[in-house]
Amino acid sequence: MLTTKLLATPLLVTGLAFAQADPAENDPIKTLVARLDLQKYKATIRGLTKFGDRRQGTDRNRAALDWIEAQLKTYGCTNTERLHYEYNPPPPGGRGRGGRGGRGANGGVIRGERGLVGVNEDPDLQPDTRIRELNRQPSAPGPREEVFCTKIGTTHPEEMYIVAGHFDGIGWGEAANDDGSGTALVMEIARVLSSPDVTSERSIRFALWNNEETGTNGARAYIDQRKDLQGKEDPPGSGKYPEPKWLGMIQHDMMLFDHGMPRKDGTVSEHQRAEADVNIEFQSRSKFAAQAAELAWAFLAANEKYATDFPAVVGPHMSNTDSGPFQDLVPAISLREMERISQIGGGWDPTHHQPTDVYSHFSDGDFRLGLNATQTTLGAVSQLVGVKLK
Ligand SMILES: [Zn+2]
Repeated sequence: MLTTKLLATPLLVTGLAFAQADPAENDPIKTLVARLDLQKYKATIRGLTKFGDRRQGTDRNRAALDWIEAQLKTYGCTNTERLHYEYNPPPPGGRGRGGRGGRGANGGVIRGERGLVGVNEDPDLQPDTRIRELNRQPSAPGPREEVFCTKIGTTHPEEMYIVAGHFDGIGWGEAANDDGSGTALVMEIARVLSSPDVTSERSIRFALWNNEETGTNGARAYIDQRKDLQGKEDPPGSGKYPEPKWLGMIQHDMMLFDHGMPRKDGTVSEHQRAEADVNIEFQSRSKFAAQAAELAWAFLAANEKYATDFPAVVGPHMSNTDSGPFQDLVPAISLREMERISQIGGGWDPTHHQPTDVYSHFSDGDFRLGLNATQTTLGAVSQLVGVKLK
């Protein structure tokens, strides 16, 4: 019996062919991915945290936006544009604790031990006086802005992928993880792809949304204002496409923390777990589910090829982020530290919307997971847009 089983196994071994070395040793994408760097990624997150929690509708949020735009320009992504919209919220009702439910509209099931979830609204829970005072100004309704810049394709300027994160935060911390980590990822990829020796066949837009934390209002404003402009040459005959056709939307939201399930007492390990991974999620109930899944698998393959430390996994329950409003218009995915519903929703990240979401709370093991997500997206997008290196 044993012998029979052993003889039956070679069929499975053929899968190993995938792991063999690429014959194209001088892969230009490998060279680009090597231009990412843990210290640079950390420095960009550090820069963002200087503006505290960057809550929408405050001076610190507007100052952060100015800084992000200035950085993008120094990277060579000089064609920055601002999107203007109004945000006038309904009176505050408070969100309180959540995540206790079973199956939500977006699927996903929470199993096992749980931690607390919710949004901290109490300034006194921030022990650092400097950070507490930095976050003191309340949000005011009114005009809002967000920023994007675009690498224009050489042969297909009329089509693009959107690579995005949200720069606003909440919770009386520094929004280091949520979503300084995703904002820095987008900025780092903009830096690498804006290098003068890089060209791409298709366009790539680097977008930093505002008002994610109030219900993805910034991403929705972008869709409202620009979805009907897609693929239109303006002025006619100019070769310019102010809104290239959307080929895909890739959101990055909370990239650092994957410490495992809470213990029985609700506490969570202090250390990044050795099995940490990048969670690529699409929404199986969306109009573009099949194409979004295909996009997710392309990202998983890019992770295997280009990421240095951590693997990726694909899941079907993308939720609660700026890719949501896009999911019925275009293939949309999100990259995260954990699954949004089953894990973050179960309280696996105790820094989520809490005063502990500060730069000093995270270690290199955490930042390295974010760097691996950056390598994954840079590798995947470079393949999708046809990047070339001079
Ligand atoms: Zn977020």
